[in-house]
Amino acid sequence: MRLAWHSGFASRARARLGGLGSIIMLHRVRPDCTSPLGVNRSLSISPAFLDKILVSLKSEDIELVSMDDAVARIKSGSQGGKRFAAVTLDDGYSDNLHHAYPVFQKHRAPFTIYTTPGLVDGAAVLWWEVLELLVAKADFIKAPNGQEWRCVTMFQKRATFYALMRYFTETLTELQQIPVLQQLCETHGLICGVPADRDVMSWKELRQIASDPLCTIGAHTIHHYNLKRLTAEMVSFEMRQSADMLEEKLGKRPVHFAYPYGSAKAAGEREAILAAQEGFASAVTTRHGTIHAEHRAHMHILPRISINGRFQELVYAKTMMSGATTPIANAGRRVVQA
Ligand SMILES: [Zn+2]
Repeated sequence: MRLAWHSGFASRARARLGGLGSIIMLHRVRPDCTSPLGVNRSLSISPAFLDKILVSLKSEDIELVSMDDAVARIKSGSQGGKRFAAVTLDDGYSDNLHHAYPVFQKHRAPFTIYTTPGLVDGAAVLWWEVLELLVAKADFIKAPNGQEWRCVTMFQKRATFYALMRYFTETLTELQQIPVLQQLCETHGLICGVPADRDVMSWKELRQIASDPLCTIGAHTIHHYNLKRLTAEMVSFEMRQSADMLEEKLGKRPVHFAYPYGSAKAAGEREAILAAQEGFASAVTTRHGTIHAEHRAHMHILPRISINGRFQELVYAKTMMSGATTPIANAGRRVVQA
């Protein structure tokens, strides 16, 4: 990416590949971006880096817009005006309020938080974070199916974490994940939740941030399940129920949706059809890509540009938003949809 930028390839690519703009994906924004095993490190960027990104976007005359505006621009398909960037944050981490919000306020930058009511109420758990704490603490882990992992050294711990991720996302069903995690936590003397400072926003905090016109609240299902692993009825339920609950708690029905995990393994054509049927104006994935006029016909499977906490350098973000990396990440395709 450095080469793409410094050789001028990215800036030349921008005219053809940059399209109408980008939907930026973030998760956590906090000063301390460490994670015990480093495995969830990519999910966090610092408030200072967020500030840098917003300064850079403005200096390049890119307009910071809400998801409502992004949708309007995609529908109109106008290439004539300025390119846009819509900043989105998944899962509703409390650091969004404490550390990201002040930066958005400073720049008067609109942002969207895709919120999971189950995470707020405790029906769902940030299980990838709990799993990291569990592996950091334990020297030996035995899964209910008899699989065992020795995890004493950092190398073993990281390998165990990824093995357990596969076990949780491929062997277990979505509905089995939390009960099994709870059982493992009990065995190792951990509470199956995360400490308050790593947690998600409460309803009170969500109401606070949602009251700012800069903030849009989007839906992100109730339980944060991989929707491709559920029946169509369950998918529709997760979508509708999360919008219902957010409307009930925050007084406004969300019209934008993000697929949990959002990869090709977690959201596809069936999910896009169901999101449209549930009345969402847009639905975003975690697939890599910039936004083009052609996306007008694919409003429920929009790609995003993920800002990875492992590489907090402006040159990466700028190169990705130029569109130069879109064909590289997508087998040569300029326009990424299902
Ligand atoms: Zn998520």
